[in-house]
Amino acid sequence: MVVVGAGYAGLSAARNLVDAGLDVVVLEARGRVGGRVWSETTRAGALVDHGGQWIGPGQHHLQGWADDLGVTTFPTFGDGANVEIREGRRHLFTGLVPTSDREGSADAVAALLELDLLAHEVAPGEPWTHPDAIALDRRTLGDWVVSEVGSAAARAMITTATLGVFGAEPCELSLLYALAYAHGGGSMSALLRTAGGAQERRFHGGAQQMAVRVAEALGDRVVLDAPVSSVRHGPGRVSVTADRVTPDGHRRPWRVDADRVVVAIPPATQGRIAFDPPLPGRRDQLVQRSPMGSVTKIHAVYERPFWRDEGLSGQVVADTGALRLVFDDSPDDASHGVLMGFLAGHEDRILDGSGTAGRAAVALAELAAAFGPVAGSPIEVVEQHWSAEPFTRGGPVACLGPGVLTGCGPALREPVGPVHWAGTETATAWSGYIDGAISSGLRAADEVTAALGRPVRQGA
Ligand SMILES: Cc1cc2nc3c(=O)[nH]c(=O)nc-3n(C[C@H](O)[C@H](O)[C@H](O)COP(=O)(O)OP(=O)(O)OC[C@H]3O[C@@H](n4cnc5c(N)ncnc54)[C@H](O)[C@@H]3O)c2cc1C
Repeated sequence: MVVVGAGYAGLSAARNLVDAGLDVVVLEARGRVGGRVWSETTRAGALVDHGGQWIGPGQHHLQGWADDLGVTTFPTFGDGANVEIREGRRHLFTGLVPTSDREGSADAVAALLELDLLAHEVAPGEPWTHPDAIALDRRTLGDWVVSEVGSAAARAMITTATLGVFGAEPCELSLLYALAYAHGGGSMSALLRTAGGAQERRFHGGAQQMAVRVAEALGDRVVLDAPVSSVRHGPGRVSVTADRVTPDGHRRPWRVDADRVVVAIPPATQGRIAFDPPLPGRRDQLVQRSPMGSVTKIHAVYERPFWRDEGLSGQVVADTGALRLVFDDSPDDASHGVLMGFLAGHEDRILDGSGTAGRAAVALAELAAAFGPVAGSPIEVVEQHWSAEPFTRGGPVACLGPGVLTGCGPALREPVGPVHWAGTETATAWSGYIDGAISSGLRAADEVTAALGRPVRQGA
C-alpha cells in the first residue's frame, strides 16, 4: 500500500492501514512531516506554528490524537478588549463583532445568523444534493454579501472574516461551498470564535508534534524527500514513482508497486502528478478548479505580551490594510509575547513581490497602529508565505468557485480504480481543518481495507 503525503491525512491513513495489518510506504515530498502544520522554534527561542495551530469544540479526531499521545492544550488568550481598525481609525470592542459602527455591527450579526441558517440546510459531505444546489453554486459568497448585507461596514466585516477562514475574498468562493464548509465546522460563527469556536485552544509544544510522533511510530515506512511525480494504475495495481534523494545527494526515480494508493495531498498539488492513464475528465476538472487560498502567517516576537498590561486581548479586526486579523500567540506561561497576523487573499498576492522584508515592514507598521510604537520594534519577525510552497501552493485550504461542487463534487472522494483520495479537502466534517484531514485518512483507509476484503474498523 502506498500513501502519498505525510500530512495529518496521509499519516492517519497510514496509521489505520498498518493497524489493519497492511504493508505501507508513505512517500512525503518534504524533509519533514505535518504538511500544512509546521511548528518551529525561532532564533529568539519562540515556538511558532507557521500553519495550523488551533483546536476547537467538536474536533474529536484531533482531540483523540492529542489524548492518545498525551499532548495538552491551553486556551487562546482573549481577555480584555479587541482592537478594531475601521477606515484607518482605531477603536476598542469586546465580543465577536466590532462595534464602532452600530448599524454595521447589527447588520454583520444578522448576516452571520442568516449564513448559519442557510449553512444548516446544506449537507457538508454532499452539498450538491441541496434542492437549490445549482442556484447556490452559481452565486459567489461575494454576490450574496452585496445583495443581502446593507451597510458597508458589515460587508467589510464579512470580507475580513472570509479572508481569515478561507484565505480568499468572498468573490472567489461559491456560496454553496462556503455554506458547506461552515456547516462542516458547525456554523460560520463557530469558525470565527476563539472561546467556544475553532480558535479556542492551542497545543503546548505546537500542533505539529502529533504528526511527528505518529510518523515516528510508523518508522521507516515514512520516506521523506520523496516527491511523487507519477502514478501508473490499472485494475488492482499501482506503480508510484518518486524522485528520491539518494545518499550521494542526487535525485533518482524510485518506483514502489502496490495494490492501492491513497493520495493525501491538496488538489492543487495533485495536478502536478502525472497519472497514467489520465484521470477521468471530471476528476481532472475538479483538480484544475480547486485553487488554494492565499495566506501568509507573520509572527512578531516581543520580550513580553505588553498589550495585556493595557487590558488588550491582542486581537485585531481591520477593514483595510494587510493584516486584517491578529491574535495573541504568546506561550501559555507568557514568558515572552507573540502577535500573529494573517495576510490573506488579494493583499497576500499583491505583497508576494515585496519579499519577507517588505511584508514584515507592512505588518509592523500595522501592528504599531493597533498597539502603539513598541509593537513596531519586536525582537524578531518570522513569516511563512504558503503560496510559495510548491508542495502546498497556498492555504489554508482549497477555495472552490462557482459551479465546481455541483459539476465535479461527486468526484471528490470517488476512487479511480486503485487510486483513493484523502486530504482535508475531501472531509465530510471540518473540511479545511486538521480534524478533517485525520477523518479523511480514516475514511480512505476504510475504503482500501474494504476493497481488499479486510475487516473494516468497528464503528466506521
Ligand atoms: C496558515 C494556516 C493556518 C491554519 N490554521 C489551522 C488551524 O488553526 N486549525 C486547523 O485545524 N487547521 C488549520 N489549518 C488547516 C490545516 O493545516 C490543514 O487542513 C491540514 O493540515 C491539512 O492536512 P492534509 O494532510 O490534508 O494536507 P497537507 O497538510 O497539505 O499534507 C499534504 C502532504 O503531502 C505532501 N505532498 C504534496 N505533494 C506531494 C507529492 N507530489 N509527493 C509526496 N508528497 C507530497 C506535502 O508536503 C504535505 O506534507 C491552517 C492552514 C494554514 C496554511
